[in-house]
This record gives sequence, structure tokens and C-alpha cells, in this order.
Amino acid sequence: MGSGGEERGKGAGFDGAMAAELVAGLRRSFASGRTRSHEWRAAQLKGIVRMIDEKESAIMAALHEDLAKPQMESYLHEISLAKAACTFALKEMKRWMKPEKVPTSLTTFPSSAEIISEPLGVVLVISAWNYPFLLSIDPVIGALVAGNAVVLKPSEVAPATSYFFAKVLPEYIDNSCVKIVEGSIPETTALLEQKWDKIFYTGNGKVGRIVMAAAAKHLTPVALELGGKCPALVDSSVDVKVAAKRIAVGKWGCNNGQACIAPDYILTTKSFAPTLVDAMKRTLEKFYGKDPLESADLSRIVNSNHFKRLMSLLDDENVSGTIVYGGQRDEQHLKIAPTLLLDVPHDSSIMKEEIFGPFLPIVTFDEVEDCIDFINSKSKPLAAYLFTKDRKIEDQFVKNVSAGGILVNDVALHLANPHLPFGGVGESGIGAYHGKFSFDAFSHKKAVLSRGFGGEAPARYPPYTPQKQRI
Ligand code: NAD
Repeated sequence: MGSGGEERGKGAGFDGAMAAELVAGLRRSFASGRTRSHEWRAAQLKGIVRMIDEKESAIMAALHEDLAKPQMESYLHEISLAKAACTFALKEMKRWMKPEKVPTSLTTFPSSAEIISEPLGVVLVISAWNYPFLLSIDPVIGALVAGNAVVLKPSEVAPATSYFFAKVLPEYIDNSCVKIVEGSIPETTALLEQKWDKIFYTGNGKVGRIVMAAAAKHLTPVALELGGKCPALVDSSVDVKVAAKRIAVGKWGCNNGQACIAPDYILTTKSFAPTLVDAMKRTLEKFYGKDPLESADLSRIVNSNHFKRLMSLLDDENVSGTIVYGGQRDEQHLKIAPTLLLDVPHDSSIMKEEIFGPFLPIVTFDEVEDCIDFINSKSKPLAAYLFTKDRKIEDQFVKNVSAGGILVNDVALHLANPHLPFGGVGESGIGAYHGKFSFDAFSHKKAVLSRGFGGEAPARYPPYTPQKQRI
């Protein structure tokens, strides 16, 4: 389905009729039953692991072309996580696939009951540009582990990685059950018009609503992995050197802030802010040098539209005066330096929109409690971070803040634990995946109750005589 050369990331005339044909073919493959066996599922995962091993440098090259992503980041945040998802599933999948025996009740006595996880059927994965390898392959892994046929639509905003999938993935998986469609809005629209058994979308909430509306026409379930403004609260009890390093690597070391779980803004107390700002500045200089625009350890901004969007956030006259570090830009190479802002107005766009870039506003309050109230006055974020040594504050934060996930004393790492669900709540998304949660996201939990012919209870059957009604 992929197109070649300069057409990378584009769909080459893929339309509704082609989408319908594609889905019909996948339905035939799924109906043949071959995706259901453990062997088939394991073979797909092994194929993906082989692809990762054999094509690691091609993946890195694509990520560098799309985002100037440093190799270390590509390896740690995309390649190794994708491989870990496969190896974890290969180890656990048999157990996940087993029917789960559950207790029965007196009403159904005698009987046995079990929950069978069955594949949903033919599913669509639409992914985003910022982690274009992982965000494409990870849901595909989940769909395959659960025994589905799947179409992947990578993001056209990361065309080199999209093209990689179109060209290379088919060499390693069962092509009759896994298809890649490259393209942008027209191609995605053509796909969304079809009837799917699940749509798994990663991206912004505006398009999330378009996906959900299209899915509603066919009563198709969705998983929406969205974003938002992830807060990080830093209280004065912290080891500030370690906190600054972890915040910096979780912000600028994650695609230069173009990450759904990068901290979007910091909250701290007025009295602690100078200490924190000082530690952040020192850390940034250590990490990225005196001229961060020259650092090879920072990704570039993905394209000129996003560059302009970011600049309009920063060049707002009420915001630019609050820069305490950074602010440099190089439009030609789409580079922006890590930038700290202190006490930006709460009603500025930078505090209202998801930043998704290298700016980190620090907002201050008198008390830690005020910070928690501020977080709770906003949409529920995908991740909320807390840095503290104070157990009382930790308990208060974990209990009172609603977010997709919470991480205490670090940033972003919760995503790497396959025993934790990864997903949002409210505006930050619907549904979760990773580890067994991926298997569950793409499975139907079929309830099966089985009875013999004994255990007859006459009162159950008409006529409902007065004697029966007295029971
Ligand atoms: P994007 O521009 O790559 O869009 C995502 C997908 O939607 C693409 O495949 C694109 O082709 C498709 N699309 C775009 N417009 C469409 C339309 N009108 N109709 C149908 N399909 C359309 O990515 P993005 O939205 O810029 O991604 C950034 C957002 O995603 C941020 O909000 C970020 O927080 C969020 N995000 C969330 C996660 C997560 O795991 N929760 C991960 C990464 C990014």
C-alpha cells in the first residue's frame, strides 16, 4: 500500500473503494481462522522482533530524517520499547489467551462459567508523528497478540517512518492479515468510513472526536490515546539536583518536548521557585551546552507549521518577557532551544493549549495545596508528576489528582512498566494499552456459562401457581 520515492507518507490515490476492498480482503483472511492460533500470533511477534534486529539502523535513520531524533533516544524510547513489548507478550501470551474459569452462582447451579478472550476481528490503528515508530508498532503488536487482522495508518507528518513501515513491515509479517496504508486526511477519511471492529487512534483530541464520530456510525469501539497539559509539581523537600535532571530529560530528552507525557508546565511554591530555576538552568547547560541550537542531543521541531505554532505561543507579548532561560530559535533548521518561563499569565495561550515543544513554564503559588487545586481546575491530564520527599504530600497528590497515570519523583518512566495500563482519562483519552492491557484492548471478553440437564427447579417454569409464588 505504500507509495515510493518522493511520495513517502502519501497514499497515492487510496480512496473509499480501495479501502472497502482492503477491509473485505482482511475479513476473508480473519474468517479463515488463521489469526486465532498461538502459533500465528507468536510468528507475527517474532517477525517484528526480527525486523527490529535486522533494520535497527534503518529505523534510526528514518527517525533522524523525520525529527533529527538522537540515536540514543530512538533506541531507548522507540526501538527497545517495541522489542520489549514483543518479548513480554511472547512470554505471557499463552497465559493471557487461556479461558478464565470464574465462580458460578446458586441460581445457575449446577453449571460452569468461564471468560473467553476472543479477537475482535479487523481493526484499524491510526498513529501520530512524534514517536512514529513506537506509536505505530505498539498498538499493532497488541492487535496481533489478541489475534486480529489489522490495518496500520502511520502519520504522514513523519513520512520517512511511514515509508519504512510500508516498505519493510510486509517482509516480516503475514501480509494477508496486516496491511499498511500511508496517507493523510483523505486516506484516513476513506478508512474511517469502513466498518471496523475497533479503531485505535493516537493523536490530538480534535481528530479524536472525528474518529469517534466516524466509529459511532458503525457502533465501533474506540481507544483514543490523546494528550493535554501534563503538570509537574515540585515541592521544596526534593533533592533539587536530581529533580532538575529528571525533569529536563523527561522534557527535552523526550523529542525536545514533543511528547504526550513530557511535563507541559511546572508548579512550585513562590519561595522555592528561585532554587528550582537555578538548578534547571545549570542542568540544561550541562546537558545541551552554551549553544543548545547546535546540540545533536535535541530533536528538531517536526515541521514549519509546528515551528510557527510554537513561536506564536512564545512571542505573545505577555509571555516573552517571562523567559528566564533559552528562547533561541533557528527557523531554517527548525531548532528551538530549551526554554524556561517564570510566572506566565494563567490566561495566556501557552498556559491554555498543550505546548508540545521545548517551552517549560513555571507557575508559582503560595502553598502546595494551591498547586493541587490548580491542576484539578484543568482538564484531566495524561500524566501528572510530583517531586517530593514528603509522604503526606505524596498521599494527598495520589489521592486527589485524577490523571491517566501518576509518577512520583520522575517523569515519563511509568510508560515503560508493562504491568501498568497506559492511557488517558477525560480529555486525555479513552482506553489503555501496554502489556496485558493491550491484549485486553483488542479482545472481546466472551461470557460462557455451561449447564447440564440436572438441577431442575420447578418454580422457574409457568404456570406460576400460588404455591410457587410463595417460595
Ligand atoms: P498527527 O498530526 O500525526 O495526527 C494523528 C493521526 O491523525 C495521523 O495519522 C493523521 O493522518 C490523522 N489525521 C489528522 N487529521 C485528520 C482528520 N481530519 N481526519 C482523520 N484523520 C486525521 O498527530 P497529532 O495529532 O499532531 O499528535 C500530537 C497529539 O497527539 C498531541 O496532543 C499529543 O499529546 C497526542 N499524543 C498522544 C499520545 C498518547 O499515547 N496518548 C502519544 C503521542 C501523541
